[in-house]
Amino acid sequence: MKIGIVGLGLIGGSLGLDLTRLGYHVIGVSRQLSTCNIALERNIVTQAEVDFAILEQTDLIFICTPIESILPSIENIIKYLSPQTIITDVGSVKGSIVHQGTQLWQNFVGSHPMAGTANQGVESAEFDLFKNAPCVLTPIRNTSLTAMETVAKIWTSIGCKMYNSTPEIHDRAVAWISHLPVMISANLIYSCINNGSQELVKLSQNLASSGFRDTSRVGGGNVELGLMMAQYNRYELLNCLKEYQQNLSKIIENIEQEKWTVLEDILTKTKEERPNFLK
Ligand code: NAP
Repeated sequence: MKIGIVGLGLIGGSLGLDLTRLGYHVIGVSRQLSTCNIALERNIVTQAEVDFAILEQTDLIFICTPIESILPSIENIIKYLSPQTIITDVGSVKGSIVHQGTQLWQNFVGSHPMAGTANQGVESAEFDLFKNAPCVLTPIRNTSLTAMETVAKIWTSIGCKMYNSTPEIHDRAVAWISHLPVMISANLIYSCINNGSQELVKLSQNLASSGFRDTSRVGGGNVELGLMMAQYNRYELLNCLKEYQQNLSKIIENIEQEKWTVLEDILTKTKEERPNFLK
């Protein structure tokens, strides 16, 4: 099977490393020639070029570009493909991509591997990034079952644990567990640097330790990715932020009114529930 990857960055490059190691013929396309050359040097791909025409003989293509370039990439490649070729993407938001992607190419199935690091670009590609990571397929009514099985087989072969969901429920779930945490974490850092005098900020910085490191990690990472989440999952993220704001107001109220048992109940519940999110 010949597999194409469009966008040889962290996700596309890491996918290429694993697939090449498994013996697949991997054909990469990226925007910059220098990226293609690094991908060839690092054995991320078997062949790489900046020209989409190289994808002509592929059986399955992963679109791994930033979200805003996923649909334009599909538009650019389809004239080179046979109708049997399957296209999938790895975008972190599915609703806006899957319906239009399927209109552009009948053999399209959306996927989202829940794996990543704080780094970007082909240099950051690493082996085994997807090992034990959840990966969601987001079929719609007319998605081909064969395409789904083929895509699931490849993700599984590099260690992913597969789930299926509608694009809409996927976007709601990732808003809660991925996009909302980025905004909360960013707001934590933002609030701490705007919390009064320079002396207070400086002391806070000197005292910050493991708790701050854990809670600030996702808010101090990839700026473009955070912005993309807000732009492309705007509706679901806003709903989560508003619901979060209401719950935060209740916590404030409990502290103001010294309702310590209510606060204790909340903290007991969250302590019990946290492991269910980290299985
Ligand atoms: P990245 O490291 O910045 O890689 C994206 C690569 O795409 C860049 O290296 C760039 O290559 C290439 N590119 C950009 N525009 C292109 C175009 N029009 N045609 C061809 N190649 C193009 O980003 P990433 O973190 O891998 O994210 C890629 C996708 O994965 C996004 O859709 C994101 O939502 C999804 N995703 C990310 C994560 C994560 O944690 N990072 C997790 C799951 C899913 P050049 O160097 O050639 O310009």
